[in-house]
Amino acid sequence: MGKLYILGTPIGNLEDITFRAIKTLKEVDLILCEDTRQTKKILSHYEIPTRTESYHHHSSPEKVEKIIKLLEDGLNIALVSDAGTPGISDPGGKLVEAVLEKFEKEIKIIPIPGPSALATIVSVSGLPTDKFIFLGFPPHKKGKNKFFEQIKSFDFPAIYYESPHRLLKNLELVKEILPEKKIVLGRELTKIFEEVVRGSVDEVLEYFKNNKDKVRGEIVIILY
Ligand code: SAM
Repeated sequence: MGKLYILGTPIGNLEDITFRAIKTLKEVDLILCEDTRQTKKILSHYEIPTRTESYHHHSSPEKVEKIIKLLEDGLNIALVSDAGTPGISDPGGKLVEAVLEKFEKEIKIIPIPGPSALATIVSVSGLPTDKFIFLGFPPHKKGKNKFFEQIKSFDFPAIYYESPHRLLKNLELVKEILPEKKIVLGRELTKIFEEVVRGSVDEVLEYFKNNKDKVRGEIVIILY
């Protein structure tokens, strides 16, 4: 039986990768990537020749069956996502679930920890984060109000991922539903245009309204 490695990769800066991650990517028989083009940037940077295949949100049950068969045949496989830690708001968790369902205790699923946008923003927040809640992405349409309303009942920070296309609209909604909250917003963390914006909901909303060129990139938000 092969082993399945769940392996964290950088969220931007290619140097944010562990020695163990590079060693594992070199040694496994196959790397499953959310997007092979994305992962190939890392593989070519570190001269890793390992074969890649895609595994993503829309992968078919047949694809999962194929992966299970490869593990049964003894292949060691690493699963990576586009950025960060597989399984945190991306399809990694689904594969682990399917593999566990099939093999139960027979298979070794080995974490190779690395960065995550979630832990990265927490680390610079300056907030008491012994307790917080992570909510993934807000729903696109239905359930959006409910998503933000639930935060009213938390007396600890709530963290979520945001798309630049929905940032302004959703901040307007936060202003309406949670006007007293403050924000720590991380954008493009570890990348060239990295910024951490701190302030009241109103201040952060105004900042992005006045700097439309910054309404882009990858965003993670803490409401507290
Ligand atoms: N598994 C990843 C992790 O561990 O961070 C998250 C995957 S999720 C599909 C991608 C979202 O994470 C982005 O849309 C953005 O909200 C957030 N994200 C990823 N990289 C980021 C970065 N460099 N700066 C800020 N947010 C980031």
